[in-house]
Amino acid sequence: MSTNQNIQSTQDTAAISFTSDIVDIDDVDDVFESNKLKKYRKYWWETGQIYSEARWEKAILPYKIATEVPYDTYVKHTDKYNIHGWWEWNNGTVCVVKLPSIFHENCIGAIFQQISLATDGVMSTNADLFYLGATMLAKSITNYLQQKDTKTSKTGKEADASWRPVSKPPVNAGGSDTTGTQPWPNLVVEIAYTEDMERVRRKVEQYWLQPDRVHDVILIVIDKPITPVTTPSVMTAYHYCINNQDIGGFNPTMCEFGTIDLQGTPILNLQPGQRVINIQLACLYHGVPPNVLNPPLPSPPQLPPPNPFATIPNPIVIDLYHVRFAVLNCIV
Ligand SMILES: [Zn+2]
Repeated sequence: MSTNQNIQSTQDTAAISFTSDIVDIDDVDDVFESNKLKKYRKYWWETGQIYSEARWEKAILPYKIATEVPYDTYVKHTDKYNIHGWWEWNNGTVCVVKLPSIFHENCIGAIFQQISLATDGVMSTNADLFYLGATMLAKSITNYLQQKDTKTSKTGKEADASWRPVSKPPVNAGGSDTTGTQPWPNLVVEIAYTEDMERVRRKVEQYWLQPDRVHDVILIVIDKPITPVTTPSVMTAYHYCINNQDIGGFNPTMCEFGTIDLQGTPILNLQPGQRVINIQLACLYHGVPPNVLNPPLPSPPQLPPPNPFATIPNPIVIDLYHVRFAVLNCIV
């Protein structure tokens, strides 16, 4: 654990210590230089370390970092090097899809904290909600083994953060892990910052929100950094719920909560409670047996035991004011 934490802090430090005065790689036509760059970038895959010589801030994402990698090797590397969804595996190819950033991590922290506070009363009960962090979620191994020697697409993806009720039962097939039996999380959070927004939108709509997977997704889009230490100003949240679809597809609710809106107009005096996402408990606890949420009453004269589930507010409110505060104040 401590090794992972060390690596993590190395990565975070590396991510925020980029300098903008280095030569743009587009200007470097020297073959040796680009091979050197490739070598340094490959070190992230091989050793888990991010070197400043790798100039990740100049890389075009997704960036192919390794090929012909078996799925279990990929999982081992992401585990060992504590890769929070920064890489993705697809048919043996590993790509860097986003870069570590303090804005990104603080943004997740602010959402995590609000859900934790709201669900405090059910901790370690059968209504508990597990925070899965950036756990690897993959298509079933049955699929994987059957398709092993074909060109059929296989993927393993991580969410930036996800939550699953502890009482959501296992499934027979199509589950979220390699055995295909583990239930999918009900809520996923994705942050698009260094990552291409369209790419993340496709991941949300064509992966997480496919039938019998995730119920709700919060997608936060933060404007791409000019330099890694530039505090972002445009921030947009999209709340997807599978109940909210129409003929044209998903119909996410959208909310702007940065210091400037998408038209460039300043958002002044944003107050707590003004820009919120409401997560219904029916969504968050989708697929949980009813007796967990409404325990049957004992026969009188016994008094019913307290139902911890009843202590959770419905809906759970994610106030984007706090997310904005976390992003704006993480660099001092
Ligand atoms: Zn929902």
